[in-house]
Amino acid sequence: MWLVLCVIIVGSDQFLVCKPSEVAPDEDLSVSAEDESEGVFDPDQAFAYLTKQCEFGPRFPGSMAHKETQAYLLAELQKFAQEVELQPFEFRQGNQTIQMNNILARFGAENSETILLAAHWDTRPFADQDTKPANRNQPILGANDGASGVAVLLEVARVLKSKSPPRQVIIVLFDGEDYGRTATNMFLGSRHFAQNMGRWQPDFGILLDMVGDRNLGLPIEQNSWNANRELTESVWRRAQEMGLSPFQHRPGYAIMDDHLPLIDAGVPMVDIIDFDYPYWHTLEDTPDKCSAKSLEVVGQLVLSIIYLGL
Ligand SMILES: [Zn+2]
Repeated sequence: MWLVLCVIIVGSDQFLVCKPSEVAPDEDLSVSAEDESEGVFDPDQAFAYLTKQCEFGPRFPGSMAHKETQAYLLAELQKFAQEVELQPFEFRQGNQTIQMNNILARFGAENSETILLAAHWDTRPFADQDTKPANRNQPILGANDGASGVAVLLEVARVLKSKSPPRQVIIVLFDGEDYGRTATNMFLGSRHFAQNMGRWQPDFGILLDMVGDRNLGLPIEQNSWNANRELTESVWRRAQEMGLSPFQHRPGYAIMDDHLPLIDAGVPMVDIIDFDYPYWHTLEDTPDKCSAKSLEVVGQLVLSIIYLGL
């Protein structure tokens, strides 16, 4: 994720009209099943997926850790999905050509409605927001900025294997989100995917970015709200109904992120992101700043949307 375009400060009643809940107060919106573990998001497993990615080291395109992580993510998704595919593309910079790959996985292919779940799996090659100038050319570990969204989606993938979804789910892990110094050379994987969706075209989607912060706060991302107000409000309303308190029913930042190329291509997208993270694009973006509980909150919401719809 990159630039903050603006902060919109308006009273929440000007911004959102909170409709009364259409769900009876005692209706359970969390996902449960007869078997205790079936359909249930395991926060410890999700956190293990986060730390595992970080153990490879900084995962920027062109690095060995990037290659190793790609193989790992592919192998993990192959355990759970009906179909997994690499979507390769090249990025040319000067006389250099960098190979990148989006990683695509499909679940519940027999169903008609298709939901896209996305996160970026690459990490930033330089800690340009680090307080110490000496660190600013070092690559970041990206525990939150990158690994957290992927961790939630790997755990969601594991759950989908244990309990078939009533709609088709496509997980896309984007490469090259955080590659460039400026927005011109960022969101590379999502731009490529948006122009080459083919048979992976979804009806709508949810992007997860920086969802692992120990102090999780998820106000409504403005570009999502501006582009797809009804969908965005439905997502936050569900979180409210489920009592997931990190989701805050108030306007947040407008973020440039992987959802924008998809919105431009006509796919309604919602970005779930906590941009109030002091370690953003620094060497301090490490697993100790993240928590299993935060991953769980986001995972529970995603599973509720998958199994119960919006
Ligand atoms: Zn970033």
